[in-house]
Amino acid sequence: MDHHNDKKKIVLIGAGFVGMSFAYALLDAHICEELGIIDIDKKRAEGEAMDLSHGLAFSGGNMKIYAAEYSDCRDADLAVICAGVPQKPGESRIDLLHKNSRVFDEIVGSVVASGFDGIFLVATNPVDIMTALTREKSGFPAHRVIGSGTTLDTARLRYLLGRYFSVDPRNIHAYVMGEHGDSEFVPWSQAFVATKNVLSICKQHEEFTEEGLDDIAHQVKTAAYRIIEAKRATYYGIGMALLRIARAILNNEGSVLTVSAYLTGEYGQQNVNVGVPCVIGREGIRRVIEVDLTDEEQEKFAASCDYLRNVRAEMDQ
Ligand code: NAD
Repeated sequence: MDHHNDKKKIVLIGAGFVGMSFAYALLDAHICEELGIIDIDKKRAEGEAMDLSHGLAFSGGNMKIYAAEYSDCRDADLAVICAGVPQKPGESRIDLLHKNSRVFDEIVGSVVASGFDGIFLVATNPVDIMTALTREKSGFPAHRVIGSGTTLDTARLRYLLGRYFSVDPRNIHAYVMGEHGDSEFVPWSQAFVATKNVLSICKQHEEFTEEGLDDIAHQVKTAAYRIIEAKRATYYGIGMALLRIARAILNNEGSVLTVSAYLTGEYGQQNVNVGVPCVIGREGIRRVIEVDLTDEEQEKFAASCDYLRNVRAEMDQ
């Protein structure tokens, strides 16, 4: 990380829906002084930088926003990767993975070649695999390569639980853990309204049920499918999730967020990037938090990790 420069700088790679939703949220966030935007479509990056900068007059911030080159990553604090190729109809998941892996060869290679010494934040899907590839391709220490993981899923969960219990989502403490995808799960033993566990609330109040909770977990898991069916892509939610993570890093907050982290024995797992609650600060992932899972939850987590390791191994075949 560049400590000679006290101005905070973010370079965004991928000026599509997700990248630009994050960039738009940055306008009013006041967490950095500089935002460089890179896209393989240079003209698009230029147009986005112009359009976005015209909003600055109304935001009360004074960021420098511009279409960047990879050399601009040299003194950046954060490189946020939202670039990717869309899945073509009929294309297999593994074909798409190979394509995105080649895209990441170019992106991660160019960022590292600039002399970049900051933190990678990855949103491109499948995010746990793309985060693992970023770690491998960059050779950076694992705590400086962060995937958005299940932060968005966790936000969706808290929002829905807040509605269910008629409580402010900020007073709901619950996580979605595992793969950002079909094998993710909610450890209900670790879900609380204030400091009261949701399962004991269900036992004490008949208007709240475990079926109700399972329905919420299902809604969280299928939210992306439903949004994509309705409007083809999801981006505002992930844009805000990326902002939340970027803020925790740049402001050294020590916030607990369910990012995709590399495990080295936590939860009995290793050699996998997966969504787990982590303490996030200036150094990236300060610590992985090992919440107490029940045996059944531990099995679900292990299955999700197995799935991710298998996908990664499948790519090398
Ligand atoms: P998009 O197609 O709108 O944008 C992708 C951008 O990447 C395009 O502007 C494209 O030109 C650019 N790009 C492609 N190859 C590049 C390269 N080699 N170098 C630089 N730029 C390149 O897609 P989107 O809707 O913004 O989605 C981006 C990614 O975010 C997808 O992988 C999507 O699945 C993912 N996503 C993740 C989450 C999450 O929770 N992690 C949520 C929503 C979407």
